[in-house]
Amino acid sequence: MVKPLARKIEPNRRVSLADYATDADGGLDRADCEAQLVPLLTELGELQALMWGARTHALLVVLQGRDAAGKDSLINHVISAINPQGVQITDFKVPTPDEAAHDFLWRIHQAAPAKGMIGVYNRSHYEQVLVVRVHKLVPSEQIEAAYDQINAYEQLLTATGTLLVKCYLHLGRDEQRKRLLARETDIIKAWKLNPGDWAERAYWADYTVAYEEVLQRCSPAHAPWYILPADHKWAAHLALAQVLVETLRPYRQGWVDKLTALQTTMLAALSRVDKQ
Ligand code: AMP
Ligand code: MG
Repeated sequence: MVKPLARKIEPNRRVSLADYATDADGGLDRADCEAQLVPLLTELGELQALMWGARTHALLVVLQGRDAAGKDSLINHVISAINPQGVQITDFKVPTPDEAAHDFLWRIHQAAPAKGMIGVYNRSHYEQVLVVRVHKLVPSEQIEAAYDQINAYEQLLTATGTLLVKCYLHLGRDEQRKRLLARETDIIKAWKLNPGDWAERAYWADYTVAYEEVLQRCSPAHAPWYILPADHKWAAHLALAQVLVETLRPYRQGWVDKLTALQTTMLAALSRVDKQ
């Protein structure tokens, strides 16, 4: 297997995003990445089918990144390899009045995947320490407290059978500009046009600091962050597929064993049935 494209953050490490190339490609070109993606997506589909049948674990994939980082593209090109019955994708937008009247984890926990399912958070509870922090939408003590609250929430999930993978799509400033401009002439992306995306670029450095703090403070071994190079969408797709397969593979045998035991039990029951 080639060197993984995503970089896993070890617990309690200082992170400077400038140390990570946004255009990293592992020495592969687009055709290489697309070719390597194919068998990984097949394996991802198989692993999900086993996880679905065994019902001992869930997988939660958290996707975060700046505007136009490619979160939707990852869902379209990688998560799409999974049987739609086994996936639950949730977009977290500006909280509705009802959501805003609750604690910030209320809407998040409702979207947590059930055993057997793969849940995808397209943005997530991390917005509390990203957009909310950058724009000072709540008092600073609440933001400071949120890091521990996030870690406690994720501890609960992982202690009760949810595997957790968190992906930061690391996009360069120039590439973001190109993508925002390209959107203006793409009819299919007209729904994404948003003057606010340009306003957010003025806060680029503040978001960098906020993301670095997230990566440092919320990367326990059981819920790691991965930095995915996002300037090349084809590299980001391969990076995510690699991370998901590597995360699920160690559980494969356990799921096969569980399903084998189930099969044995059911075959015994079926042997007593009159199959007229
Ligand atoms: P999109 O770029 O289409 O994903 O738009 C979602 C928007 O919702 C982004 O601008 C987010 O920053 C914003 N958003 C998500 N969660 C929150 C939150 N908890 N508080 C404020 N804004 C949020
Ligand atoms: Mg946006």
